[in-house]
Amino acid sequence: MLRPFTLHRPETAEDACALLATLGEDAAPYAGGTELLLLMKLGLLRPPHLVDVKRIAGFGDIADGPSLTIGATVTHRTLERSPLVRARCPLVASVARHVANVRVRNVGTVGGNLAFADPHSDLATLFLTLDATVELVSPRGRRELSLAEFVRGPWETARRPDELLAAVRLSPWPAGTGAAYVKFGVHERPTLGIAVALRLDGAGERTRVADARVAIGCVSPRPMRAESAETRLNGVAAAELGDVTGVVADAAAESVDPADDLHGSAEYKREMVAVFARRALRVAAARARGVEPAARFPHAVVA
Ligand SMILES: Cc1cc2nc3c(=O)[nH]c(=O)nc-3n(C[C@H](O)[C@H](O)[C@H](O)COP(=O)(O)OP(=O)(O)OC[C@H]3O[C@@H](n4cnc5c(N)ncnc54)[C@H](O)[C@@H]3O)c2cc1C
Repeated sequence: MLRPFTLHRPETAEDACALLATLGEDAAPYAGGTELLLLMKLGLLRPPHLVDVKRIAGFGDIADGPSLTIGATVTHRTLERSPLVRARCPLVASVARHVANVRVRNVGTVGGNLAFADPHSDLATLFLTLDATVELVSPRGRRELSLAEFVRGPWETARRPDELLAAVRLSPWPAGTGAAYVKFGVHERPTLGIAVALRLDGAGERTRVADARVAIGCVSPRPMRAESAETRLNGVAAAELGDVTGVVADAAAESVDPADDLHGSAEYKREMVAVFARRALRVAAARARGVEPAARFPHAVVA
């Protein structure tokens, strides 16, 4: 049962932050409510005041530039359908299409997803490979943090109580980058998400991996880049990518910090990272060569 609360509907970030500063721990920002209202119904959170951020000017915008700026209140559905997102970061639109179910996607926002810091976030995992930064606004002004600095751990961020997440900025990969996101799971939320992006450089036999990005979500306390896997990929000849896939997948599996929970044992999760890292790598490598592979895996989505 939901307890009574006061809903504030400010129209500027300044007014919203002033409310958060005044009300302190009695208030929580409220966007789509898909997480917040669930916790309130369960009695796990009882804020007497909710500050609705959906009317704040600019928070619902998607803007182009050297980076792609996605406002905090942009919904998964808008992300999926945005012609700009599809043109600049097509994988982001494809991944958004597979978040949750259509009811959650219709109201759930990008800002709510990142600010909630659920380790099972598809967006946070994928955004790490796009060098994402988040813009935070407060009565003291604006500040920008890398997404890796912002998401500190399970349901924990660097957001101060009077701050709002205003937008996330992505640095789209250069043309010719092959990328894939593979998510696996049998529960409501994914058990594993792996993002791989490979930029190839050179021609003919001299074509090599110039920039490799691998991010793994759901299995560690927060989504992380797998730097050891990236190091093993950088500089590898395109023709030899198939030979190193096993070593790279093992490095990815070594890099995670899983725990036993309802999604499976730590040992099982580490093994699944190795299996799905191999699969994601194969898809990204094929796409980098301009080939769309037929990739279907049980209980998995390939975006
Ligand atoms: C059934 C179900 C399945 C799901 N499956 C997936 C999945 O497959 N993949 C995936 O990635 N996610 C999944 N999710 C998570 C989903 O993406 C999030 O619930 C949604 O994006 C949260 O957005 P919201 O606007 O509803 O946030 P809210 O519920 O409104 O808020 C969530 C939290 O963020 C805070 N907050 C919201 N906006 C801001 C802001 N602008 N600044 C600061 N703090 C803010 C709130 O105070 C609250 O703590 C699932 C959720 C559900 C319920």
